[in-house]
Amino acid sequence: MSITASVPQASSPTTPSAIRLLPDPRTGDAAEPDLLRYLSASRLKCWQTCRRQFYFRYVERISVPTAPALFIGRQIHEVLRLWNWGKWKNEPLTPEQLRAALNERWELDASKEFIPWKSPGDEVTAKAQAWAMLETYFAECPLAPEEQPEGVEVEVECDLGAGIPPLYGIIDLVRPGGRIVDYKSAARSPGEDMAAHQHSTQLACYALLYRSATGEIETGFELHHLIKTKIPKVIISTYGPMSAAMETELFFLIDDYLEGIAREAWVPSPGQHCAWCDHLALCRKRSGM
Ligand code: SF4
Repeated sequence: MSITASVPQASSPTTPSAIRLLPDPRTGDAAEPDLLRYLSASRLKCWQTCRRQFYFRYVERISVPTAPALFIGRQIHEVLRLWNWGKWKNEPLTPEQLRAALNERWELDASKEFIPWKSPGDEVTAKAQAWAMLETYFAECPLAPEEQPEGVEVEVECDLGAGIPPLYGIIDLVRPGGRIVDYKSAARSPGEDMAAHQHSTQLACYALLYRSATGEIETGFELHHLIKTKIPKVIISTYGPMSAAMETELFFLIDDYLEGIAREAWVPSPGQHCAWCDHLALCRKRSGM
């Protein structure tokens, strides 16, 4: 499938350098040679949330400790990948094998990175909670045991036309018939409409990737939320295929992304999301607060 879109024009920054608040990314270690090598849902989503956060993450590449919630989510994701992979190969894994895989991967990753647990007992509790969420999912998910996935952790690169970097992404799961599944772990239940709204950029990217790889139109999306409540819950939200409006909005966002990077428009977007931004203190300092 060939996808065409308008080619963004790089423009020169007109802001006098004297009032630049952030370091020039074209100099020294801040240079980011592969910023325009490819697009991804996470890069676009970060850009959409806050251009200054994007700068800190992808241009300055400031490393931050792994948040416990992110670490737990990654571990859950890995076990789900193994579970689906086993089904895809027709070699389903037992609950014991899956639990052993969780323990093994957890220990390995925890030994390699700093996770700021609030107390030593928190990690043990978190691991038990992660397994409880997975057990609940295995018991309640709508996938029949004999259902064989169409694809698991599918890595796709999609050509978006001349002058635009390719889009790259990994789709968690494709169910038979072309239903794209994405796993989420969260502290509370999302509303179905809000979940679709919040993840629309990611879903649109997956639709482009799927269409490019298969030449078919996806039949829809499913968000499988594993909810970290005291008694874990599973919420499945289902949606239709990407609409024409979603696709247009994605290409407008890509135009804005490419133009904004060319102009070094690292504008801060203060809002509620700042409460969980890794760079709040630095951002306030750069703004002279
Ligand atoms: S604190 Fe807010 S405005 Fe500043 S970088 Fe983070 S998200 Fe952006």
